[in-house]
Parts: sequence; structure tokens; C-alpha cells
Amino acid sequence: MEFVIRNATLPDGRTGIDIAVQEGRIAAVAPRLAVTAAREIDAEGDLVAPPFVDAHFHMDATLSYGLPRVNASGTLLEGIALWGELKPALTQEALVERAMRYCDWAVARGLLAIRTHVDVCDDRLLAVEALLEVKRRVAPYLDMQLVAFPQDGLLRSPTALANLKRAIGMGVDVVGGIPHFERTMADGAESVRVLCEFAAAQGLMVDMHCDESDDPLSRHIETLAFETNRLGLHGRVAGSHLTSMHSMDNYYVSKLLPLIAESGVAAIANPLINITLQGRHDTYPKRRGMTRVPELMAAGVTVAFGHDCVMDPWYGMGSGDMLEVAHMGLHVAQMTSQQAMRACFAAVTENPARILGLEGYGLEPGCHADLVLLDAADPVEAIRLRAARRMVMRRGRIVAESPRAVARLDLPGRPASADFRQLGKAR
Ligand SMILES: [Zn+2]
Repeated sequence: MEFVIRNATLPDGRTGIDIAVQEGRIAAVAPRLAVTAAREIDAEGDLVAPPFVDAHFHMDATLSYGLPRVNASGTLLEGIALWGELKPALTQEALVERAMRYCDWAVARGLLAIRTHVDVCDDRLLAVEALLEVKRRVAPYLDMQLVAFPQDGLLRSPTALANLKRAIGMGVDVVGGIPHFERTMADGAESVRVLCEFAAAQGLMVDMHCDESDDPLSRHIETLAFETNRLGLHGRVAGSHLTSMHSMDNYYVSKLLPLIAESGVAAIANPLINITLQGRHDTYPKRRGMTRVPELMAAGVTVAFGHDCVMDPWYGMGSGDMLEVAHMGLHVAQMTSQQAMRACFAAVTENPARILGLEGYGLEPGCHADLVLLDAADPVEAIRLRAARRMVMRRGRIVAESPRAVARLDLPGRPASADFRQLGKAR
């Protein structure tokens, strides 16, 4: 064997597990494997998980915070206006450089697959060209999936549909949309129909920004689920944000949830962004604005937490750390039971992997040897500590390492220590 990781804990709770790696794939997963390897890593009982996956990001805007100025109101709409000011000044070199830098951050955090929306409402399609170039460059260490995103509205922006089709022709993977930004509810519903029919005809996946609003009557998720059913797009469609569901009437939601579940539409909440952008028109009480995550999960809907933004016109924080995303999602959704906290970990790993349709993702023999060794005993502790990624492996090759947090007090009789473990374990 090329590699063996000894004494790992897995996200499903199995402990004392060895993982053997050969030719970029997981060769065996079992207790005390009787194999020799060129290199062994002692996990010391720590958690080994498949890599983090971000199902919702904007890599064309990332690391542009403050260009040309900071979002003063903190709202989605000022962010869109600000991005509109910045767009004409974008250069391909700067777009590529910022995206590549972000991908470095991502790899260091064990984030090895990202679905990024790319704005197609600039007739030059500079960002599309730039992110296709980035996708090609990072392919050895990171899976990128691109969504053609008509940021200024499919029907509202005169060239958006033609540009979206051009972008798909250039190699963009997924059909995007933004129905709540069209001028009327009817136009929003029409945009969903047009985009779903295009995706069905082309055999493509769909991922729409949908109902990113506090308006309880913003109901484009209903149309998205209906069109998914009508066109047989089951399992290929995701609704991103769905924040209006937070404010909807409970009776209406009791009808909506089964429709979403039946259509197989996945939901992608973006907790860091939803908690900062939503509720901005409220005084007090102030709505949280994130969609109904535990209720969607209970209805059988696949739910992921996305990062959405890092240092851009909408959000001045973030670092590519999906554990920070899960941590915020857990708090905003009040998902505090042991089972719910583990579900938050799944929402940044296996659930988004399913939404992206990643091949060979997981910890079964035959899967890609894409692994993260965390400085934590289990998924709950990983979220609580935003645990150091001791080792990140891609296709059997170590691509990042981080040290454990240690206090070096340098006092007599006081050895270095920073044991954050509540349950603890023998070291
Ligand atoms: Zn977004």
C-alpha cells in the first residue's frame, strides 16, 4: 500500500478504523488492517471525514471586499448594485488571481469541491472565461462546478438568456436563475419555467437563487418544484437560499414541504449570509431569515449549507472554512440535539456532495482517497472547535497540513497544553 491511516474515528461513529490508500483510491477500511505501507499516519483516534463540499459560492466576486466601496446598508440589493459598479472594471487577470487565492484557502481548510455561480450578465463573459480557466488549473486538487447565473435577472436583463446559453456552450455546467429579482411575481415564475425547460432540453442540472427575500409571498420555490416534477428533472435541481420560507404562513408551508420532497429538489441554505442579509427591513423583533432547515430535513429533502460569499460586496467575513458555516447554521436553525449537530456536519460534507453529483465521494473502498483528518473526536467536536485540519488528502496525496492549537506557556512544571476536548481521549 502507498498509505495507511491508523486508528481513525469515522463520521458514522466507528472507531479504531484503519484506511488503506492505493493509486489515489481507498483500498480498504477496517479495524487493524494487516497491511504494510510506504507511509503511515497515526490518527490517534481523531476524526477522518471525506472532504468538505461547498454547494453554493460566488468565486467571481470573492476577495473583492471594498472594491469600489463597502456595502453601507448591508442589504442584498446594495450588494447587487455594488457588484454592478465593479463589473465594468473587472479584468480577467484579477478575477483569476483572486479565485486562485481563494482556492488555496479552501484546500488548506479541507474544502475540495465547490459549486460556484458565475455572473453571465456582463456581455463580455469575462468572469465565465476566468472561472473556466481557474477550474482547469485547480482540477488536480479541487473539483469546481460552474452555474450560469443571470445576476441582473433573466427577463430583466436584455441579453441574459443569450449570455446564459453562450456560457453553457463554453462549458459551464449548471443552469442558474434569480426569479425573486425579476420585476414581477409572474416574470419570476416565467423565468423558472424558461430555465427549467432549457435545462431539460440540454440534460443539465439546475441551481437557482430562489426567494432570497423576507417576503412571505415570494413563492418561486413552489414553481421550481412544480416545473421539476412536470419536466422529470428529479434529483437534478436545487433551490438556493429559500429564505422567504422563514416568513411564510405555516399552513402554506405544510403544503409546500411535501411538494419539494416529492420533486426531489434539494435545498441550499447559506447561514452566514442569510443571518446578515435578511431581516434588514425589520426593526425588532428581527427575523433570522434562514430557510426551515430541520423541517426540510425531516421531510426528506437533501439540505446543504453553503458559504455563498467570502469578502465580497455582500459579506466582509469568511475564510473558506465550512466548519464555520456549519457552526452558524447550527445556531441559526437551533439544531442543538446530538443528531441535529451531526446533521449540520453532513450539510457541509455528504449532502452537498450528493447535490453536486460528485463521483467517488465517501469513505467506502473504491472511493477517491480524498480525506480530511481533523483535530476532533467526532463531527460535533469538529464543529464546536472549527477543528484544525491536521491533514488534507486529495487522490492519495497530502495537499495541506495544520498544527494543533497548543499553549506554550514556558513555565516550570507546566507542559504545553491546549486540550479543548470535553470527552477527551488517551493520547
Ligand atoms: Zn448566492
